[in-house]
Amino acid sequence: MIVTSLDFDKRGKQQGFLQVPYSHNLGGWANVMIPITVVARGKGPTVLVLGGNHGDEYQGQIAAMKLARDLTPEMVTGRIILIPSLNFPAARAATRLSPLDGMNMNRAFPGEPEGTATSQIAHFLSTVLFPLSDVVIDIHSGRRSMEFVPCAHMHLVADREQRARMFAAMLAWNSDFAFLYADIAGTGLLPVEAENQGKLVITTEMGGGEAIPAAVHRLTQSGLRNVLIHVGALKGRERTRASLGLPPVILVQALERENYLLAPESGIFEITVDLGTKMKRGQTIGFIHHLERPDRAPESIVAQTAGYLVTMRAPCLTQQGDCVAVIAQSVSAKEVLRA
Ligand SMILES: [Zn+2]
Repeated sequence: MIVTSLDFDKRGKQQGFLQVPYSHNLGGWANVMIPITVVARGKGPTVLVLGGNHGDEYQGQIAAMKLARDLTPEMVTGRIILIPSLNFPAARAATRLSPLDGMNMNRAFPGEPEGTATSQIAHFLSTVLFPLSDVVIDIHSGRRSMEFVPCAHMHLVADREQRARMFAAMLAWNSDFAFLYADIAGTGLLPVEAENQGKLVITTEMGGGEAIPAAVHRLTQSGLRNVLIHVGALKGRERTRASLGLPPVILVQALERENYLLAPESGIFEITVDLGTKMKRGQTIGFIHHLERPDRAPESIVAQTAGYLVTMRAPCLTQQGDCVAVIAQSVSAKEVLRA
């Protein structure tokens, strides 16, 4: 059972912890202590900002930490709850999954009150923090497995009104690409639980790989602040891509299995086009070379649809069934909002 000393109904700024019981060999009565900050003032919406759902995706963690330090109640027109490193043990270990129980936080929802550490954290969000919140922001990157065009993204939720609000907030991140995605790998996702509770949910893939370029940090931090202004939780003037002198967003969707290209066999993956490239159907994206039989011709990876290469596998070494690329098709705002 998770406890916290924070009073979510109190005005002003509070810094504390979510405490998760975790009994281990050298700490029989130990707790995992997950930092949490709440800044509340005014009648605006409650926004839950989450970094580190996957522990080794640090872009969002840094952006949330900066806000947690910088925000004062005078800057806020609602309530902002920040958890920079949601899967805290994984963030400390630089791993995607929790080293305590091997669980993927983003497959652990809705969670269990007396489950493992990851499951308890998921349950606390599902039953305490999501019900308090109007808006849930969950910041990801591709980290070790994938390199993405930095983008805000969302599910095509069934409720049209919820979808329209999510769509507007996704665009407020002001990334070059905005991406509608489907879940091809399992259930129990954090955003799905929040969506099912009717929340305005904003998620991102802020690049990927080991190194984070300065421009990606800037986009993560400016996007997060602009979305907080957009939803009415933070004072300030909302910026649009036009007001920033940027071209219109490239709106894409990958809702079919054929958009997600899986490795037909194991080997060494070579990408042959740049991320963000507009592809034709049938165009070669890359090859899988045979480590043990270099004399054999490599396996071609071919676009099954026209569209943009929005993400590619980051490590070269690839196992059969790994996702090596996603081709997302162009779509108009009208089509998204009416679908
Ligand atoms: Zn992630």
